[in-house]
Amino acid sequence: MSKYEVVIGMEVHTELLTQTKQFCGCRNEPLDPPNTHVCPVCLGFPGSLPVLNAKSVDLSLRAALAFAPN
Ligand SMILES: [Zn+2]
Repeated sequence: MSKYEVVIGMEVHTELLTQTKQFCGCRNEPLDPPNTHVCPVCLGFPGSLPVLNAKSVDLSLRAALAFAPN
């Protein structure tokens, strides 16, 4: 008998169906060429302030609840 308990977690990455990106108002078009829809926020320019996409929070919480154990 071990004094340690094995705890296994899972990290899931998904692509949400939002009109805009997670932290700015740039269009979310995954099939367009890379760096097509960019702004100072998603480019990480100093002084730019991210704004959280409310729809992504809603969809993320729905997914978390769907996968949560009883
Ligand atoms: Zn952007």
